[in-house]
Amino acid sequence: VRQSDRLPGYADTNLLLTCADGRRYVLKMSPPGADAALLEAQAAMLDHVAAQRPHLPVPRLLHSHEKGLIASLITDDTERLARVMQYLDGCLYADFRPQTPHIRRSLGRFLGELDASLIDFDTPTLHRYLEWDPAQAADAAKATHHITDDEQRRQIDRIFDNFTREVQPQLGDLRHSIIHCDANDYNILVATDEHGTPLIAGLIDFGDAVYSATIANLAVAVAYGLMNTPDPLSAAADIIAGYHEAYPLEPAEIDLLYPLARTRLAMSATFSGRWRATHADGGYHTISETAVWKLMDTLQSVSPDLARYTFRDACGLEACPKSASVTSYLDRITETIGPVLPDDLNLQDAAVFDLSVSSADAATAADIGTKKWTDSLFRKISDAGATVGIGRYDEPRACYVADQFVNDSGEPRTVHLGIDLFAPAGTRVLAPVKGVVHSLADNDLPLDYGPTVILEHIADNGKAFYTLYGHLSRTSISKLEPGHEIATGETIGALGETAENGGWPPHLHLQLIVDMLGMSGNFPGVAAPSRRSLWTSISPDPNVLLKVPQVLIPDPTPSAKEVRDLRKKHFAHNLSLSYAEPLHIVRGVGRHLFDANGRSYLDCVNNVAHVGHCHPRVVAAIAEQAAVLNTNTRYLYDNLVRYAERLTATLPESLSVCFFVNSGSEANDLALRMARAHTGGSDVVVVGGAYHGHLSSLIDISPYKAEGPGGTGLPPHVHALSVPDRYRGRLADAGDIVTSASEELGNTLTDVLKTGKPLAAFICESALSCAGQIILPPGYLTSLYGHVREAGGVCIADEVQVGLGRMGTHFWGFQKQDVVPDIVTMGKPIGNGHPLAAVVTTREIADSFANGMEYFNTFGGNPVSCAAGLAVLDVLEEEGLQSRAQDVGSILIDRLRDLQREHRVVGDVRGAGLFIGIELSRGASKEPAGDLAAYVVNRLKNDHRMLLSTDGPNHNVIKFKPPMVFAEEDVEGVARALGDVLEDHYIRAATDP
Ligand code: PMP
Repeated sequence: VRQSDRLPGYADTNLLLTCADGRRYVLKMSPPGADAALLEAQAAMLDHVAAQRPHLPVPRLLHSHEKGLIASLITDDTERLARVMQYLDGCLYADFRPQTPHIRRSLGRFLGELDASLIDFDTPTLHRYLEWDPAQAADAAKATHHITDDEQRRQIDRIFDNFTREVQPQLGDLRHSIIHCDANDYNILVATDEHGTPLIAGLIDFGDAVYSATIANLAVAVAYGLMNTPDPLSAAADIIAGYHEAYPLEPAEIDLLYPLARTRLAMSATFSGRWRATHADGGYHTISETAVWKLMDTLQSVSPDLARYTFRDACGLEACPKSASVTSYLDRITETIGPVLPDDLNLQDAAVFDLSVSSADAATAADIGTKKWTDSLFRKISDAGATVGIGRYDEPRACYVADQFVNDSGEPRTVHLGIDLFAPAGTRVLAPVKGVVHSLADNDLPLDYGPTVILEHIADNGKAFYTLYGHLSRTSISKLEPGHEIATGETIGALGETAENGGWPPHLHLQLIVDMLGMSGNFPGVAAPSRRSLWTSISPDPNVLLKVPQVLIPDPTPSAKEVRDLRKKHFAHNLSLSYAEPLHIVRGVGRHLFDANGRSYLDCVNNVAHVGHCHPRVVAAIAEQAAVLNTNTRYLYDNLVRYAERLTATLPESLSVCFFVNSGSEANDLALRMARAHTGGSDVVVVGGAYHGHLSSLIDISPYKAEGPGGTGLPPHVHALSVPDRYRGRLADAGDIVTSASEELGNTLTDVLKTGKPLAAFICESALSCAGQIILPPGYLTSLYGHVREAGGVCIADEVQVGLGRMGTHFWGFQKQDVVPDIVTMGKPIGNGHPLAAVVTTREIADSFANGMEYFNTFGGNPVSCAAGLAVLDVLEEEGLQSRAQDVGSILIDRLRDLQREHRVVGDVRGAGLFIGIELSRGASKEPAGDLAAYVVNRLKNDHRMLLSTDGPNHNVIKFKPPMVFAEEDVEGVARALGDVLEDHYIRAATDP
């Protein structure tokens, strides 16, 4: 042993032994007088697990030559029993960041496997009394007098009381086995795989192993898993789901999990209090005390029934067991169910709206509360010859944009749990089933229910269920009293106006509720997508009351899986998807994208949606033109020339001749043709790492592709210059880079000219995108353009990524370099997503190209595309987006540089305007950290709902090129999120010295 270090421990003395060859072990010494039989039993248990499930990371014990697993040691004249076990490496679960659903699920799965491996292990020694065993809580209940605060003691007493009344009598009937019984977050180790995916790396301290109800083991882990998380039930559900996957739970076990976990928390608080009563220093004995009390306070307001339903749901059971009996009761009494709206409003031929996230009928933030939205919905009703409009049940929507629609985990609640009946304000609302008034409230937060009535009904099995009527008029609730009996068909109120109903178009929100979960006056009407099956069980489809014919109800949006399967069937495998878990995006608004579940994502990367996704001006321009004329350039129409005038007005005077095409690739291919026609040469000089498009001609001139996976290298007529990369390249000084590039180009041109033909073109992006978001050093293009022109070549500026104001200080990127190109190509942003691209050149080059062969492009420059292009220019100007890019971009760069100072993994931050790169690397050698960049991008998407991507030859540059409507308030969010992710264990472990 080279070195021994003390490790923390509750009763044992633990020493970390490091051998000369680096292997590490733990020497565990029990306190004097320890029970040898107990230690033997624990050792046998570990041996059993190791033999049954060799992949489970539990400590392996070393056998000593003579004595087996346990030996005795003399230290300080006392004899101690000792064991040596493998040291398990990892971070304590309590310290691990981030605590995501994934790691909780892994913990559950690990414990499930552990318990499964122990069902056929037994030893009489572990059939013993252990005061920490949740099954023994009755004894802990007698020690609550150690808790000095009266209110806290009463709280704990109530938990123990519930244990003795409800839990203890049932425990005996549950499965029993030997369990670890102490899976607290200081006994669990976590590590990460090469992608940063966390995995359970160990469970230590088998000192509390005991024969008990098997479920007690999970209850302990759930108790600790509930701690320090904003949404304890979801966190617990993750652990339980993982456990159930590995070792299926029985319904009776699930029912006791929540009370048992709370019991264990109460035990922990009681024992901490007892220790404190007799010891000045809390130490290891009170390590979780603060978190335990905080959690117990939070749990006081959690409905135990909701906990039980959540846990059942996590195990794939019907969350709310009463649900089926309520719907089958209503099915049985269907003949006696009355209408909810007066007879002149007919649901049988209603207009059923699709208000799902992707639908054109759906409202997003801008429409809500507007007369326009109300009018459009009611117009649809009358156009359909209907009297009522229907909003669907179990439908994810994007209209719930107020703070109350975000759950404790930060997940938006989007899935509608009722049915909406749209009818004029003042329409009477009738009780479809008799009942009594349960509660009344005016839920007057914006976008809430407004005045609300909840009725209680009794099914034939004597069980209660409820119906909720939201968005009524204020007078409706003034006329009723809780407890009043209501007969079937009796009027309970009338539909409210927008001004009183929460700000919605007049409609009734009708919801069926199987369990009020202790609430009154209000009840969640929308659920988080991740909790959809839970809440649709608590609030089943109210169509059992309405009986709207199923044929009227449109099919829901196809699931992500269906879309993905069809993609696989109909597309090639190199049509790639972003992110480890791809997004199913169905809507875009400004700088946000929405998935099919209505979750919004801050878009930091889609530069095509230049003036914002689906900008209404651009959308209207396209729609209006498409409704009037779409044809081709063989006819005269004025918006073609208007667009050409507007576009060329942004360029230097010499660039006056336009060619409108449909993609950046087409633009660059055409630029090459023109350069060759004009010069008579065919050789092209490019910059390393560049991408200029997907056509054959462009793959040839794109080192990013030709020299990348599947590429066949650059052909002989293409010559690549070194990437002018001040961070990673050989030279750091801008002047040196320019001098060196100029020499390199000089040598290349000498070779080209030896062929006897001139150079055709030098093509270069005005800031390098695929090469890693690189800003060209000052003077770079001036120097190179000079050489190129001397060699007879033309200079092409590829502005497909960086043009149109993105660089902030200048409208076109080449202007930042103070040069005038011979040809400029543009694409991506100029149509804001409409396939529009352009080549603009000089009259001289255009004349050389016009050699007799007609130039015709079926779609290029069609009236609809020109309308889109014009609208984009209008919006850019009117909304001052170029200067906004400059202002917002420089704040962002400053914030990113702050992060660079705090996190060594951030090697470089560079950019101009809203074209920014964050390069991640390891150590002084700047080893490119593509793995970490991919991790960061996935984490930002999964846990912060921000979209970025990586680029550069090593994929280690996080690129940032959002729609230009990106706002200052977004910058703070992005910087905070990125700062959070950079604190992750995976990043720190990979980059800390
Ligand atoms: N040039 C550059 C610099 C590009 O980034 C791209 C596309 N990423 C293209 C050209 C090709 O454009 P498109 O995909 O519209 O054909």
